Amino acid sequence: MDRYDMEDVVVAPPAECSSPLKEWRLKRQAGTLARSDFIEFFKRESPKYFDYQTGGTETDTNALTLKCMFKEALAKEEIIDVLVEFMLGDNPASALEKLRLEGNTATVCGKVFKNGEPTYSCRECGVDPTCVLCVNCFKRSAHRFHKYKMSTSGGGGCCDCGDDEAWKKDHYCQLHLANRKNPLESKILTDAVLERAEICFGAILAFCVNYLEIEPNASLQCLDGNVEGGQVDGAQYCTVLYNDESHTFDQVIQTLTKIAKCKQKDAMEIVAAIDREGRAVVKCDTFKECNDLKSAIENQMIPASALLSNSRNNQSLRTSVLHIGAVACQQFALQLLGWFQEFLVRHYLFRKTFTELVQRKQEAFCIRHILEYDVKLWKTARTCWHRLLISGMLMEYDNKMVLAQEFSRRYATIVEDFISDDHDHAFSIVSLSVQLFTVPSIAHHLIAHEGIFDKLLHTFYHVAIEKFIVNKTLHFSKNIASLTFFKRANYILYDLRYLLSLKPEVLNDDLRSGFLEGCRALMRVLNVMQGMESITRQTGQHMDYEPEWECAFNLHIKLATTISQVIEWASCDVKLLRKLYKMTVRALVSNSFIVGGEKTEARSVAGHVASCLMYDVSVKPVSIHLPLSRFYAGIYLHLGAHDMTYDSLQAETDALSIQLTPREIIEPVLCTHAMIAQVAAGMWRRNGYSLLHQLYFYRNVRCRVEMLDRDIVCLQIGASLMESNEFLIHVLNKFNLISWAHSNYETLLLENPVDDEFMRQLSMIDEFLELLIVIIGERWMPGVSMVTDEDRLRKEIIQLLCTKSYSHSELSRALPDGNSGNSDNIFEDVINTVAVFKKPVGAESKGVYELKEHLFDEFNVYFYHYTKEDKSKAEELQRERRKAKKELVCCPPPMLPQLTPAFTSMANILQCNVFLNTCTLIMERALDARSRSFTESHLQKILHLLGFAIQEELSENYPFLSFYERSQKYGILEKLDELARCPRLEAHRDFVLWTIKRYKELQAKQAPSEGGAGPSGLQQSSGEEQPLSSEEQARQEKEIRARLAAERRAKIMAQMQSAQKSFMKSNAEMFAATDKETREETAPTGAMDWEDISDEDEQGAVALKPNIACLGPERKFYQGSEANFKCILCFENCAISRSGPPLVSSAFVQTSRVIFTTPNMRASQSALHMSCCGHVMHHSCWQEYYSNEESKEQRRPHRNRAALSQANNVEFHCPYCRTLSNTVLPVTEALPAFSPLPAASDSYLPLDSFVEIMLTLAADLGAIKDEDMCQLPSVSSILRKSGVVADMAQFERSVQLIKDPPKLHSNYSDVMAFLNKALLNAMQGQQPHLKDGLDPDNIELVPMLWDTCSYTLQALEIYLFEVHKPLKAELPMRHQSCATNLVRACSRFSAANRTGDLPMPPSMRSQAEFAARMLDTIFNQKGTSVLEWDSFRVLVPFQFGVLNLMTADNAAQTIIPSGSMFDYYILQIMFLAHLTKAVLCFDVDKEQAKRAEETPNAKPAQEMPQANQSVSDYLEQLPDRIRDNIISFYRRYNIPARVLQKNMQKQLAEELKDENQQQEQTVVIPCELHHLVLLLEYVQRQMSSFLRCACLFYRCLTDVDFPDTFPTDQPDRFDLMCQYLGLDPQLGVYFDMETVYATMMHSFASHPDITREVEQRCQPEVRRSVMLEPCLRPLPRLKQLYDDYSDLINSVSDIFCPNNEREEMKTPTMCLICGSILCGQSYCCQPELGKLSVGACTHHAHACGAEVGIFLRIRDCQVVYLGRGKGCFVQPPYLDEYGETDQGLRRGNPLRLCQSAYSRIFLQWLGHGLHEEIARLNDNTNVAVTQWHHM
Ligand SMILES: [Zn+2]
Ligand SMILES: [Zn+2]
Ligand SMILES: [Zn+2]
Ligand SMILES: [Zn+2]
Ligand SMILES: [Zn+2]
Ligand SMILES: [Zn+2]
Ligand SMILES: [Zn+2]
Repeated sequence: MDRYDMEDVVVAPPAECSSPLKEWRLKRQAGTLARSDFIEFFKRESPKYFDYQTGGTETDTNALTLKCMFKEALAKEEIIDVLVEFMLGDNPASALEKLRLEGNTATVCGKVFKNGEPTYSCRECGVDPTCVLCVNCFKRSAHRFHKYKMSTSGGGGCCDCGDDEAWKKDHYCQLHLANRKNPLESKILTDAVLERAEICFGAILAFCVNYLEIEPNASLQCLDGNVEGGQVDGAQYCTVLYNDESHTFDQVIQTLTKIAKCKQKDAMEIVAAIDREGRAVVKCDTFKECNDLKSAIENQMIPASALLSNSRNNQSLRTSVLHIGAVACQQFALQLLGWFQEFLVRHYLFRKTFTELVQRKQEAFCIRHILEYDVKLWKTARTCWHRLLISGMLMEYDNKMVLAQEFSRRYATIVEDFISDDHDHAFSIVSLSVQLFTVPSIAHHLIAHEGIFDKLLHTFYHVAIEKFIVNKTLHFSKNIASLTFFKRANYILYDLRYLLSLKPEVLNDDLRSGFLEGCRALMRVLNVMQGMESITRQTGQHMDYEPEWECAFNLHIKLATTISQVIEWASCDVKLLRKLYKMTVRALVSNSFIVGGEKTEARSVAGHVASCLMYDVSVKPVSIHLPLSRFYAGIYLHLGAHDMTYDSLQAETDALSIQLTPREIIEPVLCTHAMIAQVAAGMWRRNGYSLLHQLYFYRNVRCRVEMLDRDIVCLQIGASLMESNEFLIHVLNKFNLISWAHSNYETLLLENPVDDEFMRQLSMIDEFLELLIVIIGERWMPGVSMVTDEDRLRKEIIQLLCTKSYSHSELSRALPDGNSGNSDNIFEDVINTVAVFKKPVGAESKGVYELKEHLFDEFNVYFYHYTKEDKSKAEELQRERRKAKKELVCCPPPMLPQLTPAFTSMANILQCNVFLNTCTLIMERALDARSRSFTESHLQKILHLLGFAIQEELSENYPFLSFYERSQKYGILEKLDELARCPRLEAHRDFVLWTIKRYKELQAKQAPSEGGAGPSGLQQSSGEEQPLSSEEQARQEKEIRARLAAERRAKIMAQMQSAQKSFMKSNAEMFAATDKETREETAPTGAMDWEDISDEDEQGAVALKPNIACLGPERKFYQGSEANFKCILCFENCAISRSGPPLVSSAFVQTSRVIFTTPNMRASQSALHMSCCGHVMHHSCWQEYYSNEESKEQRRPHRNRAALSQANNVEFHCPYCRTLSNTVLPVTEALPAFSPLPAASDSYLPLDSFVEIMLTLAADLGAIKDEDMCQLPSVSSILRKSGVVADMAQFERSVQLIKDPPKLHSNYSDVMAFLNKALLNAMQGQQPHLKDGLDPDNIELVPMLWDTCSYTLQALEIYLFEVHKPLKAELPMRHQSCATNLVRACSRFSAANRTGDLPMPPSMRSQAEFAARMLDTIFNQKGTSVLEWDSFRVLVPFQFGVLNLMTADNAAQTIIPSGSMFDYYILQIMFLAHLTKAVLCFDVDKEQAKRAEETPNAKPAQEMPQANQSVSDYLEQLPDRIRDNIISFYRRYNIPARVLQKNMQKQLAEELKDENQQQEQTVVIPCELHHLVLLLEYVQRQMSSFLRCACLFYRCLTDVDFPDTFPTDQPDRFDLMCQYLGLDPQLGVYFDMETVYATMMHSFASHPDITREVEQRCQPEVRRSVMLEPCLRPLPRLKQLYDDYSDLINSVSDIFCPNNEREEMKTPTMCLICGSILCGQSYCCQPELGKLSVGACTHHAHACGAEVGIFLRIRDCQVVYLGRGKGCFVQPPYLDEYGETDQGLRRGNPLRLCQSAYSRIFLQWLGHGLHEEIARLNDNTNVAVTQWHHM
């Protein structure tokens, strides 16, 4: 006994176990080595690598965590490698390497595709669409330059590179072409090696076959071995749960948690594993425990979901109990098979050995067995075997043939297994058929010698349809449940399609007879389909239920291709065609549907008699399914090409005593068409929708090729075989129109009332005439007339393009699929001859095809593939077109192609008596005003038919045609003339005139032969009168119409003008205000500025006298002007009043990281962003609106749980523009309006006093915390303490103190509170772990608003920069009003927040602390250094949060920041800080390198580009003192300079030490003029973003508009921005040591952190402690994508799920913000967010994009926006050459990145528009709710 039994090991046999290799070799020498030696070895060893752990046992036994794993790496080393060594000798690695170098792997690639791997097919060279290449081959093949398609594999197929039969040319890629040259034999694989290999291979196969069954015999053996005496030792067993398709994920998860007591999370993992691998171990325990669990699971009846109903319906989950040893062996067997498959790829001889082995019939692993036991395996095991067969047998043709033969022989069995099984097709051995049947020579061999054609159809007949046959006809109606089952059976028909996909050049007798055998089986199928699902007209009541019809149509769709293929095959072989024709005739004769046993009666019209079949369609059953008749029509079309005719073959069929008359041929089809006509006439209303659906599909592009199209051919056959009059009588009779066709009809009619019946009759006439038009006109069918397939396609496309312009995808969808894979190419050729491709214009539109102008003449309004809508659309367009071209406005018939000999007699219809009689009848009735049985559409159709007749004779194709002569007898021309004059029929006059014109052409042609006077007389009388009169008449009418229109217009204009005047009057004030404003602000100042500028330009660097500054001593003051608004809710005027109720505008707050996504940003950093549409409402109106929205939202059921966290934050839409909103912003007055206007002569405190005051304030505020003081310092005390010598008035002026400020309306606090709530909610969403909400008292709410303000402005600045908009460019209202409202709100609230109350409220207190910290940081160097500041984000809170603290003790005073002198100083301080930082960070080497790169030819130092000239001029003009100051500041503080200096100093010191010199020397860093130029330029550049933000900010704060000097079409200029802000743009000023500027800069620059940074940079190994905030933030970017989509898809083809290293990701999804690849929408990756488990994308978006995400689902080429649990799909940025996207890769055209489409996505993100877009798309489409958070 040598079983797995750990406890029992008493004697360790190391020597024996250590070297199985030695043992095998010895045995082999002795000749006793057997397969069983290996098998025993595998069996013994594999359990050692199986490992499982049961966790969480101690406390919670109810929730066990089970982890099973098989240590594959170790098993490979210790088992498989040993095996390889045995086979290949002592050094297997080098042997394999040598083998590789011999290069004989294979001439075919045969790479097996994994699920989702990209595949490529060549549209030019591929024999059929199943021929594909793998990436590696494709990239090395010639096809990459051809027209190719790409798609993603569903897994299981293989690469066809190197297969001669797969490609028309370029069969090999470079790699496999090289392999071809190598010899088949090998020096390394000697006979001895192969012998050993044979033994090993046999052992492997035997082992795997034995172990891999779901309930293997081997398991029972294990059981026997261990259960001795019924006692089971310990946990040696496993319960294994298997995959099935009838239970849903959730059902299985439920079972596992309820019965197996798994944790939810574990259950999900197990289910994912089951889905992936087909099974999973759910428990490891004793046999009893495991078996109990098995029974418990099996006893639990889970109702399978209703849709999936098949044989496994209502079954319980499949489980088994296995011994651990057996599970281990199975795991190892899987690994072994995987390895074996790869091993076989290595050499032809291995595969040869393998194939020989599996052909041995007595072995357990013979092919037959492998094929048949597939169904007993689970998913992974099956896949392993399939891959093995593909690698082992498909690489060589002979082997492939062997497999194909075996496969064919077992086909019936394995298909039946597949149908009763429930796994997907891809997981069944049946799926191998595509590899075998698509090889033409193999397919032909199988048809000829294995009877596979017959076998397939025979199997299909028996398994799929036999049981539905009632009375020799199929009836699916009552068997809806059969759908799933039927679907599976349909795979047989796919196989059939593969088999016949390529018709042979020549047929030998074997192939022909094999094929005919199959055709007989096909006839049997078609025979039971003829007349299936027949329907009878309901007259009394509606149908009780809608009959099922889809099955029959599905059957048709699946079979249609095969039918077309069979006809195609038959068309090229006379013998085949003849036999098939007779076979079809026999089948038709034997089928009795409609034609069987009905009576005939004689009917006569116009003196002609026909004996008609009396089958009343309105009473008896009819069917849409007539495949036999249609098959006959298909075959018939090819007779002519082989010089056969109906008559010549009739002799042969008569001999067999089968007879098929023309009447019998058409009768079933005619009945169907009569029914269709009756449906159109409203006679079948009570039959419900199912009939309408069927008729829809009857004409639909997917079905019509083998339905409608064939029916028309069938009728055309009848028309050509029968005497024309007789044919027409048959049709008239079927349509019940015989009496109508008699001239006494009108008189008979007088006796009958006008009822429904009569209206239907009229409609039936229409239908009859239209059918006639179709029969005569629709002859673009090879065989009917002399046209080719291309002509047919051409006609189809022309007709389509007459209705509208089509994009490429629409067009290819509107055309039927070709039978061969190359229809694409034909399509491409044809489309280019008839249409012009118009390239897409914008990013939104697609390119479209437009018909070439001259081809509109070929338009036929009665085209039979048109729907009603198509027809009217096309007709309208055609009329417009002709009107524009000043042609007769009508839709005349096109010229028709010439009929083939077999169909020539059809033309006779146009001149036969019944036809002419009918035409004259209708024309007479048209002219008779009393006639009742006439409608205008009858006339139109008759004209169309006459047009056909005239043009047919004009074509001179048919000598027998004498329409002109006959028509004269009927007086057609006279009647036409009369019609043209008839005023009642004016609408048709143009068409009549056209007909007359054509008729006269015919007359002119006849004239020489006739020469008669009669016609010429006619010509005169009509010729003068008609065309003239009608044209004249038209012109006159037009003139009258034009005059009337002009009068009407004038009247309207007058009305409008008076309305406008009264409007102006009532709004006079408003207009006046705007006028004044524009005049003041722009006109006069603008002119002056221009003069200044030109001066300045001439003088160079002389300082400019700015007269438009918003700040500083020179500032321009705000001139009050208030705008009036109209409330968008109540439409009343509303003005802003200082103390009245507030006005609001809806706004949206969101968390954002957009500008923090640049590299090096802290991962967690996020901020709040605010947007606002700017539409103004009364606060009260809004409140009403909002509470309404709120209650609506509460009534709505919660769509998804993720939205719950937002519960107290209802989103709503702006009532005016529907912009998404979640809060409101107050709309207030311009800020300067509050402050007193200072006089021009007033003096202010200087900057140094300001600094002193700030220092004092910092100290005092800091004391609050320390001393627990409850009162804020007063102004006077601060002034005193800071030693500023000034009077109070000067201070008050400097801060623009407001005395007795207006009290805010009480509603302001509501607005404020609501805004705060929204900010809090947004914060909370970002931090779900703060589950109970933030404590509003602990959060610094007001600073939060300021921060939102600065972030929003920064985001706006970046957005504007990105869209190339300078500041002065006109901003959209939403940006303008958002910035203004936000800044004003900040300012007002910061002022309103202060209070004189004691004790100090907490918010005030926290503000004071905040301010103290900030002032300390800025003025005392106590916090971070400038290096870490984002200067603008410090500026905003500084501006709002400090000054008003000084007045907080006095309610009678307040400060509203609006551009005071102190505000200016604040800006100056931050400007200096930013300047300092820029100087510090400047890196001269980098700049020089950059400059050298930009101007590669110029020498960096001497020759500077022209643009820098002004800077260097400026520097030269500077006083030496200042220049020296700059240089010394640079040397002292610039970080790279200091680092350099230190390093050089150190070096020097070392050198000196070497030379033993004691003298101290100091290294001086060079700083020449050109260095300074670089420095100043650098600084200017680095300041740009800060200045733009500051300009935006102070523009809103001061309401001083940007001057006209600001550029509107180029980047903003440094100097202009400085001037606007009141700053000196000449940077030298700031380095003057005597000013406070320099003091501040030195203070900033000497922060200890900066010195530390320098030291750290000298020692590169030390970790940095300072987070450097760049002066100029890099711009946010989305991930750069591959230009070629296939590169993208390849880049993820082997990325694995982070939770499961063995499995490739199913839905690899790329975050476009950071580029990470995630495992999207998958059960394996469901991380937790808060308490909710969500999809990987949602989780990632939360952190990466602060709750929003942009993801590209790579395999299906879709872009998803996610935001707060919601989401939407948007157009991907990849387009094909027709400018179209391809979501889901359905079209497969090569896709390229479209930059403009991608930048649209980018700008939507950058502009914070994702939430808005998601809301918009979800609003518009009422789509089923997607579980976006699972994404
Ligand atoms: Zn390949
Ligand atoms: Zn290749
Ligand atoms: Zn090609
Ligand atoms: Zn209102
Ligand atoms: Zn709005
Ligand atoms: Zn990301
Ligand atoms: Zn995953």
